[in-house]
Amino acid sequence: MYKAVRGTQDILPQDAPYWRHLETTIHELCARYGYHRLEPPLFEETSLFVRGVGEATDIVEKEMYSFTDRGGRELTLRPEFTAGVMRGYIEHNMHTWPRPVKLYSVGPAFRYEAPQAGRYRQFHQVNVEAIGEQDPAVDLEIMSVAWDLYEALGSKGLSFQLNSTGCPACRPVYIKHLVAYYEQHRDEICKECKRRLQRNPLRVLDCKVETCQPIIEGAPRMREHLCGECAKHFETLLGYLDLLGRSYTLNHRLVRGLDYYTKTVFEVWAEEGLGAQNAVCGGGRYDGLIEELGGPPTPGVGFAAGLERIILAMKAQGTAVPELVAPQLLVAHRGTEAKTRAVTLTSELRTAGIGALLAFGQRSLRSQMKQANRANVRFTLILGEDELAAGEVTVRDMAAGEQQRVSLAEIEDWLKRRL
Ligand code: AMP
Repeated sequence: MYKAVRGTQDILPQDAPYWRHLETTIHELCARYGYHRLEPPLFEETSLFVRGVGEATDIVEKEMYSFTDRGGRELTLRPEFTAGVMRGYIEHNMHTWPRPVKLYSVGPAFRYEAPQAGRYRQFHQVNVEAIGEQDPAVDLEIMSVAWDLYEALGSKGLSFQLNSTGCPACRPVYIKHLVAYYEQHRDEICKECKRRLQRNPLRVLDCKVETCQPIIEGAPRMREHLCGECAKHFETLLGYLDLLGRSYTLNHRLVRGLDYYTKTVFEVWAEEGLGAQNAVCGGGRYDGLIEELGGPPTPGVGFAAGLERIILAMKAQGTAVPELVAPQLLVAHRGTEAKTRAVTLTSELRTAGIGALLAFGQRSLRSQMKQANRANVRFTLILGEDELAAGEVTVRDMAAGEQQRVSLAEIEDWLKRRL
């Protein structure tokens, strides 16, 4: 028997109301903020992600679904959206558009990670980007989109973790201090951190190994090494957040796994319901990325939020979501001739915008009524020889248990007045 591939899952009908509600909320919210949809393809040239995400990141080192196509191209299923969106920005000359260019995407991403609750190999993200502005007010706006999304979904117990990782002017100086400090503690740190010191030193701050924790606590902090410009940017952002009364946690260990971040980085954590995979959203500023990908020097800031984790949190918190609209009537029939008319009537009603079900087969009226009850429809329309001869249909109000005849010529209007 075939099963969904490890780390992938079916989105089943019972979860459809969550997905629908989430997607509707995302589209409405992005429209309100003036973001427009850009959907990059599911796969891109592998080198785009190697350059855009960073060679020394977990994603590029061990998580990409890469393959060679029949034409010999080296391709990769997108592990995240930002690189593809930036490729699109450059390809379509969006630097000539009014700034900032505000884009969002929603769809699946793929990473070869160890699957567990809340961590999959195919998962979905909403990705929001504002490109072309240095202003810390744009960082604030991006964070606010994330904030409002969770608020609109009624999410509780979230914390915003915030840090600045500096820029190419101040970060290398900080990294020197960090590496020098770690060299003094070489005997106390884990094997992986020794490797990180070589490949991607900032990531030592991210280490979860017990013995590394006191070392991280004592490590020099980026905030104390920010250059004038980065310090000012960060202070201004914090000022705005305070003005709006947004609560946040300054987290000096927050560095994020992706190389292209500069200045602001943030994550949103769910305090309950998600266990170890509690990050529901991650983002920040990436002023060097577009140039790195061959475009003109252009700043940008954005975030990505995982949809499965949002839904897991909604379920854990018992958040109610609107039911999906279902057909409100069933067309039942008695006899071959009536069945034929039932087929055309159902089709006419649907064309008129009325959701309708047809009773399949030629079962007893009793069994068709049972079907109507199971489908929870408001009305059952019954066609038989009598009705056909009179040019009418019997309409049964299922809750009231009452029936009446309505002329076939008027049934659409009759239903529209009531549904
Ligand atoms: P990242 O691009 O790693 O910053 O991820 C952004 C968000 O996507 C995270 O906060 C998660 O909510 C979600 N996410 C990342 N990887 C996975 C995964 N393997 N499975 C489910 N959700 C994920």
